[in-house]
Parts: sequence; structure tokens; C-alpha cells
Amino acid sequence: MAYEKIEQLFINGARRPGSAGETRDVIHPATGKSVATFCEATSDDTIAAITAARTAFDNGHWRSFSAEQRSKILERVADILTRDKDLFAEAESRDTAKRIVEAHYDMDDIISVFRHFAKEVLKPHVREVNTGRENVHSKIVVEPVGVVGMITPWNYPLLQASWKIAPAIAAGCTFVIKPSELTPSTTSMLMEVLSEAGIPDGVANAVYGAGATAGEPLSTHPDVDMVSFTGGLTTGKHVMASAAQTVKKVALELGGKNPNIIFADADMDAAIDNALTAVFLHSGQVCSAGARLLVERSVHDNVVDEIARRADNIVLGSSHDDKAQTGALISAGHRDKVEAYVAAGIAEGAVLRAGGIRPTEPELADGFFFRPTVLDNCNTTMSCVQDESFGPVLTVEVFDTEEEAVRLGNDTIFGLAGAVWTTDDDKAARVAAALRHGTIWINDYHPYVAQAEWGGFKQSGVGRELGEAGFAEYLEHKHIWHNLKPAPSEWFPEGPE
Ligand code: NDP
Repeated sequence: MAYEKIEQLFINGARRPGSAGETRDVIHPATGKSVATFCEATSDDTIAAITAARTAFDNGHWRSFSAEQRSKILERVADILTRDKDLFAEAESRDTAKRIVEAHYDMDDIISVFRHFAKEVLKPHVREVNTGRENVHSKIVVEPVGVVGMITPWNYPLLQASWKIAPAIAAGCTFVIKPSELTPSTTSMLMEVLSEAGIPDGVANAVYGAGATAGEPLSTHPDVDMVSFTGGLTTGKHVMASAAQTVKKVALELGGKNPNIIFADADMDAAIDNALTAVFLHSGQVCSAGARLLVERSVHDNVVDEIARRADNIVLGSSHDDKAQTGALISAGHRDKVEAYVAAGIAEGAVLRAGGIRPTEPELADGFFFRPTVLDNCNTTMSCVQDESFGPVLTVEVFDTEEEAVRLGNDTIFGLAGAVWTTDDDKAARVAAALRHGTIWINDYHPYVAQAEWGGFKQSGVGRELGEAGFAEYLEHKHIWHNLKPAPSEWFPEGPE
């Protein structure tokens, strides 16, 4: 397939420029150079997309598609993405600067998400209700929520989009998506895939541009029934407050400040190696990054020495550099924030054990690179322990007892993910039960599957993506009560004349 005109908005099955004629360059983070120019949507353009989605939901033939038909479309999407995987991986790594190999892993995950929801939609979703009454047939049926506004971030652009789009299509919703202005390419390419797979015009719409203009109507417009947002806490709160004005259904996937707990009895080779992956994968730009290392005091020195040594050896480079182990941060502005965060940590008493600087290699000078950083001697009063850096920064705290490890692991406003490393299965189970985070890994870090729910406790979000619950977010449950023998209720019997 030729992915032509993907720089234009996709509204009601057609490409068009933004109505104000404005454009925005997409900058490749490893070089600082423009690699594409996308049309910018005004809020009126987004409202036009919402109207297309509303019309397709209320009046189009999409509502007559059976679960089997929607399942087949999702399978076709997965097939087309498999066919065009290289094109998508290239575009994703061009926008994000992630290594091409990582972009290929992402594509495998994305394809599995579409296949998962193709199966999920075929499960029986009608529930008979035993009312305890004769002559009544009562059942619960599910229906699509309606028009969904989707807002996605820049770190895993197509993956985050697929977590929303696949269940929305499975449920029979229509949608308008606004990807991050920094990384719109693959979301825009996906619109072509959806058309090729047989999605009717108006069901899928995409607009590009800044959140405050192109994104805002998705949480404020009365024709949107649900807003599904993935991004930072501050924007998430704003979206939730805006959506409250029209009482929309809201799903939020926000940040995390995720504890990675290493007990002294852990398999140390595995624990140390995975501690590096936990925090430095994709340069720490991962919502579930294991950015807080909690380590038992008796092994602290060995663990931190080794992690710092290996962090200093991590090779930075561009997407197609075979020797590179991780890439650049998404933008110059984001790198500034990460640098300020590290400086604040040091000012608060953290001890710099690795990184904390930009790389010195001349070939990396134009990109937004930052060395993997380890801050030791941290505690929960410090901003670097409480605030999300969303960069390659590990903070280290020590603990003496299991209770203290749990208390520290829960001492955060977030609750997205965490891990515990120990060879004592009972201890692992106790700690996993006591941690208030949406995903807990025992002796592992980062794996997830489309069949398992993903989401946060506390201020890491509202609702779930993936799994059965991730499908239910896009459904309304309707109770149908059928009285098989109607009779007067005699609640208000006819009184005397
Ligand atoms: P932001 O919150 O800055 O942006 C997320 C999206 O919201 C972008 O598309 C942005 O548009 C848009 N947006 C901004 N303002 C508005 C608005 N007023 N109305 C509607 N949309 C708006 O997050 P980032 O893009 O910086 O992503 C990083 C954050 O995302 C991190 O905090 C991370 O933890 C979180 N995240 C969470 C995940 C999870 O599963 N829990 C997964 C991935 C990331 P634009 O930027 O184009 O202006």
C-alpha cells in the first residue's frame, strides 16, 4: 500500500488539509532535523471530525455490523500491519528515535492487540438475570459507548493508539484520535489500513496538532460520549475536568513512579540486569519504567556499584546504529526538563553515581541525547523520588525490612506498576499483594500481554486498557426487562369518584 497524503487530516474517509492552512514539522530526535510536515487542525477541524464520527455512529451502516464482521475487520487490520510492518517500524523510529529493533517489537505487540480484540468481541456478552420472579425475562446486553475521543502521547505512538482503537472498533464505536503533535505518522498511516480493512467512512478520524486546540474539543464537545486519554497527570486532570461538563465517560492512563524492589535473597544477576532494562529501556520514556530502585541495605553497595558501572557502559546512538543500545529523548524541551530534574535531585542531597550529562560523542551532538543516570542516597521526601522524570534516571533508596519495602513502594501518588525480586515465593506473594499498583512483576520487569489488564491505581489513572476490562471500557451495559404477563400494578388503585 502507498501511504500517501498521510500528513493531511483524515475526516469522514478523506484526506484534507487543516482549515487554517497551518503546518508543523516533525523533528527527528536523534538529529534535530525535520523529517515530515503535518497539517495542523483547528478546533473547528476537530469538531468536523467529531460530527463525522457522530453521523457514522447514529446514521451510518456501521451499527449494523455484527460482532463477527467487526472481528474480521480487526483480523484484516492485523494482517495488513503484518504485511506493512517494516514501513510502520521505519516511520515510528523516525518520529520517536527509538531503535529500529524496538520499533519492530512494538509492531509485534500492536498486531497482537488487534488479534486479541478480534477474539474478545466474539465472546458471549449477553447475561441472563435471575430476577426471582415468574413471567419475567431479564437480560443484560452490551452496546457501544458511541463516539470516542482519543488522545495519545509520543513515547509509544501506535501502540497507545492501538490499545484504544482496537477495543473501540470491537465494541462498534466510532472515534476521533489526536496523536501527539511530535509523533503523528504511524497513527495517520493506520487510517489507511482501517479503510483498506473495510471500516466505513466516518468511523475512524484523525486530527493533528496541539492539544490545546486540536485536542480540546475531544473532551468538551457534547457529541463525544467518551474520552480516552494517555499522557501526563496534569493534562489528564484537565481532560477529566473538561469532560465533567458533559458527564462523559473517562478513561485515563497517566504516569507512574514505579518501585523496583530488590531483596538480598534475589537472583542478583537477573535482578541487576533487569533493573537496567526497567529504567533505561527507551531512555526511560516509559510510563511503567522502574525509576525507583528500592534495595535491601545489606546488598546496596554491590547492587548500586554494578548498576552504575553498567549504566556508564550503555551505548547511545541513532535508530539504525547496530551498536546503539538506546536512543535520544523526544525533544530538546524534554531533555531540558530531565536535566532540571537531575539537578534538583542533587541539590536535595542525591549522590550522582552515573550519567547526569549529555554524551560527548560529536555524532550525537545534534540529537536530544542524555546519559543514563543513577542517583543514590535518595529518600521519599525528595522531588526526584516523587516526580516522574520520564527520562533515563534511576533513584536509589534503601530498606531494612519487608514492611519498610512495601511502605516505601506505596509512598507515591502514583500506582501504575512495580516489581519485587526475591527467591522467597511467600515473601514475593505478600509484597505483590500489599503494593498498590496496577501491575506487579515478580522476578521480572516490563512484560505485558494484550490478554491482561493494564492501568493504574491512585493518580496513575482511571479504568483499564487491554484484557477484558479494556474492552468493557468501550461498552454500555443495558438491562432489558421483559414482562411476559403484563398486569395492572395496582400501586395507585382507582379511588372513590
Ligand atoms: P502530555 O500529557 O503532555 O500529552 C498527551 C497528549 O495530550 C498529547 O497528544 C497532547 O497534545 C495532548 N494534550 C495536551 N493538552 C491537551 C488538551 N488541553 N486537550 C486535549 N489534549 C491535550 O503527555 P506526553 O505526550 O508528554 O506523554 C508523556 C506522559 O504520558 C508521561 O507522563 C507518561 O507517564 C504518560 N504515559 C502514560 C502511559 C500509561 O499507560 N499510563 C503510557 C505512555 C505515556 P500535544 O502534546 O500534541 O500538544
